[in-house]
Amino acid sequence: MEETHEKVGLEFPPEKTDKPIVTNLVKFNLTFNILKAYVSPGKTGYIILELAGTDANIKKGLDYLENEGIIVKIYTDSVIRYEEKCMHCGACTSVCPSGALTMNRDTWELEFNMDKCLLCGHCVRACPARAIKSFDDTIF
Ligand code: SF4
Ligand code: SF4
Repeated sequence: MEETHEKVGLEFPPEKTDKPIVTNLVKFNLTFNILKAYVSPGKTGYIILELAGTDANIKKGLDYLENEGIIVKIYTDSVIRYEEKCMHCGACTSVCPSGALTMNRDTWELEFNMDKCLLCGHCVRACPARAIKSFDDTIF
């Protein structure tokens, strides 16, 4: 069966942040890569993961997380670009660590490849025109 990838944001209630919940995703034949994590004992925690597995197993894993009281958000897009504000200056491409933001060498216009995005937020902070915003303000 074909493997797919999903970027998901998880919000943990304070009483769940010290539980080994994410590691249980391996029981659903999922692999995961933690892209970002803000976890402190006694506080609401946020983790952003890239999950890999079949669609069916990803659904089972996300159902498990929700049953554990975790708020799950699937990022079908990771940054919002306001194209009308973009000056195509390229500043964001120089801070993007993954090559998700590049300049088209023919048109000199900015291009975005969501599959490569690591949700690091560097581009949001680097843009002088405020033409990029995080998909979800809780993640950057
Ligand atoms: S830094 Fe902002 S204005 Fe410059 S290319 Fe990137 S999105 Fe466009
Ligand atoms: S969030 Fe990070 S990886 Fe994604 S486009 Fe912006 S700089 Fe690149």
